[in-house]
Amino acid sequence: MNEEGLIFSRQVPDGGCLPLPGDEDTDAQAQALLGDAKLREEPTGLPDVPEWEVVRHFTRLSQRNWGVDMGFYPLGSCTMKHNPRLNEAVARLPGFARIHPEQHPAQVQGILRLMKTLEQALIEISGMDAVSLQPPAGAQGELTALLCFRAYHHSRGDTHRTRIIVPDSSHGTNPASAARCGMTVHTIDSNAEGLTDLAALDAALDENVAGFMLTNPNTLGLFEPQVEEICARVHRAGGQVYCDGANMNALLGVSRPGDMGFDALHFNVHKTFSTPHGGGGPGAGPVAVQAHLQPFLPVPRIVEDADGTLTLDDDHPETIGKVHSFMGNVGPLVKAYAYILSHGADGLREVTERAVLNANYLLSRVREAYELPYRGQPMHEFVLSAEKQKAAGCKAVDVAKRLLDYGFHAPTVYFPLIVSEALMIEPTETETKGALDCFAEAMLAIARECEDSPDVVTGAPHRAYAGRLDEVQAARKLDLRHDPEGEG
Ligand SMILES: *Cc1c(COP(=O)(O)O)cnc(C)c1O
Repeated sequence: MNEEGLIFSRQVPDGGCLPLPGDEDTDAQAQALLGDAKLREEPTGLPDVPEWEVVRHFTRLSQRNWGVDMGFYPLGSCTMKHNPRLNEAVARLPGFARIHPEQHPAQVQGILRLMKTLEQALIEISGMDAVSLQPPAGAQGELTALLCFRAYHHSRGDTHRTRIIVPDSSHGTNPASAARCGMTVHTIDSNAEGLTDLAALDAALDENVAGFMLTNPNTLGLFEPQVEEICARVHRAGGQVYCDGANMNALLGVSRPGDMGFDALHFNVHKTFSTPHGGGGPGAGPVAVQAHLQPFLPVPRIVEDADGTLTLDDDHPETIGKVHSFMGNVGPLVKAYAYILSHGADGLREVTERAVLNANYLLSRVREAYELPYRGQPMHEFVLSAEKQKAAGCKAVDVAKRLLDYGFHAPTVYFPLIVSEALMIEPTETETKGALDCFAEAMLAIARECEDSPDVVTGAPHRAYAGRLDEVQAARKLDLRHDPEGEG
């Protein structure tokens, strides 16, 4: 056994791995294909392990990580809700999982019908006029919509409109998408309540503005009560208004961005409508737009003939083109469809009502011990500050690491940027009161520890498999190669 506790022993009696089907012939086949010159003379040094050791190795690794199926996961903005297994089962049905994207539309009417119906559901939920399911993530939905804004302005001869305004509370993907789209980014300060400052917005609006990007409820979890006025002002200046729809879990069946005056929005299907995420995908970020932006959406569009046959239509001369191969990531779309249908309209509204109730209940339980810098009533998530704890020597990151010892995933920390020592907590609707109470008790206990024994908090986690990692080095110098000479 090496340091990692991994076993690389040969346990197959004849001293090799379990054979793959047809293995006996592979040498001869390879030789025939490649010729002698390309054959290795030395073995590659790949690990030689039996199947069960591989299974045990990866199962052990999976248990060292935290997942939404292990426990409470209040990672703000990410909506780490339970993903019903029903949706997984539906997405794995062979009729969905095994079709090929090059198949003729006549052979795949089922999935086209599913996608068309999902488009219609998202149109209804958002209050918009048209949807493209093609973008594979929220951030790419942003890029897609901004490209539509640009194409719209160009179609009117407004080629000078190249500035995008974002609030200082915006998610980092908003300015990044704008920059990627060739726009310049103008950041405006939020007001003392953490909402859009109308005077700052007015000052930023001019004839070069392409649009304003707003998250609603915003990243502090606060609904923007002036949203209609904000949209009207941007429109008067000739700009378009984008809704970052990552927080749709706070709006389902209650209010619709299309009715508030937004011109476009993205959904994070993998947040709001189930699909496990957190490991980097795959997800889906459908874009919904008002009628005037419809000509610019990605192609192909799914269209229905008079006889009910669905076809793929590329004939849209003003389209921005494609943002993903074929129709995007179809698996998450199937799950979203199953999620929406299994909840129904009433069920979706209940998702939102419970998400908001859970967040407000949890806030009421932890509020005495942590600062709430922006005091408005939050929707589905709230942002605390660990400034009080910092005075005792423990920062937000310490509180987050200590939560691991109590058996919880950490909240989002240090975002949004306008809250110092931010702890952004989103419980989601799928948690019970019991789970919320346990988490609240842990938060209160940690607040007491910060006063009484700060070293316990700053040294956390004490019970996790790995302590504090150098996350910067881990990201910049990632090395996952197997080293046959090393420790495995
Ligand atoms: C998650 C998120 C995004 C980006 O979505 P991805 O699907 O991760 O690309 C954008 N804005 C907000 C507010 C988010 O929470």
